[in-house]
Amino acid sequence: MSAANADYYGSRDPLGAAGDFITAPEISQMFGELIGLWAADLWHRAGAPADVAYVELGPGRGTLAADALRAMARGGLTPPVHFVETSPTLRSAQAERVPAAQWHDTIDTLPSDQPLLIIANEFFDALPIRQFMRTGPGWREHLVMDGRLVAGEADGAAEIPLALADAPLGSIFEQNPAAETIMAALAARLARQGGAFLVVDYGYEGPATGDTLQAVMNHQFADPLADPGSRDLTAHVDFSMLAMIARAQDLLTSPIVGQGMFLKALGIDARAQALSRANPARSEALIGQRDRLTDDSQMGRLFKVLAVRHADWPMPAGFA
Ligand code: SAH
Repeated sequence: MSAANADYYGSRDPLGAAGDFITAPEISQMFGELIGLWAADLWHRAGAPADVAYVELGPGRGTLAADALRAMARGGLTPPVHFVETSPTLRSAQAERVPAAQWHDTIDTLPSDQPLLIIANEFFDALPIRQFMRTGPGWREHLVMDGRLVAGEADGAAEIPLALADAPLGSIFEQNPAAETIMAALAARLARQGGAFLVVDYGYEGPATGDTLQAVMNHQFADPLADPGSRDLTAHVDFSMLAMIARAQDLLTSPIVGQGMFLKALGIDARAQALSRANPARSEALIGQRDRLTDDSQMGRLFKVLAVRHADWPMPAGFA
């Protein structure tokens, strides 16, 4: 999954109508703008530290950052920008929208002496997972052989959360070691440097069983094991796990809420109305975008939002 996605993202811009899938910031400018206002508000209430940096993980085309930075600037926040991105193709798309950004291959080289406002939208879902299945003899890791999944021979019981140890035969448990490592490292930085981290992705509150590995190609589901590198591979993100890792580093965590609730609490209805008044011909399209981002039957509930922060930073907006 790691090699397939590195190849996939490294060789193309997969976003948008002509690509394989579309993401919230590509659906509407309102998404990035509201996140920018969220960041500016939090920064003000934290005492407006002068040296804060904006960090984004997997910024795609840079659309979210461009929209968010514009909104932040209106709130008096004009931070230096750091992008963590491995794809050369997407780096050049990002450079068109945010020319002043600095790029990093991993989180290791991010600034280590200033507070960070970190954003990750649909980043963790692209990281490689491990899958375990409950079989007769016990838990076995799924391995890929000749284009299909087979059960490994080693006993995987030590990887399974206690609450799931006796799950029914055939149950699948997924683990995302890279997401856990990145969350732990960023949480340690936030505990030392100050700041907050906003995570948006499709996900669930674990521990839970279920097979969520999926591939998308031309806006359709596809076989995740066929033709590696030709399709986007993702798995849903365990938000409870991310929150638990942050709390272990003495960070404070928000509730885990749906994207619909989060965007409504941040004022997406008012923003859609204001944009419609300024451009009545776009009114119907704007309402459609708002609904796509927030309706329970669309992205509103499947997509989750979590914010973690340094213990001296205030509760961010959007969670109540
Ligand atoms: N956040 C963007 C793009 C989401 S697609 C949006 O919402 O539109 C996933 C992004 O993560 C892409 O930019 C991809 O190149 C990047 N990515 C995937 N794996 C990565 C890794 N291991 N390290 C850094 N970036 C990665």
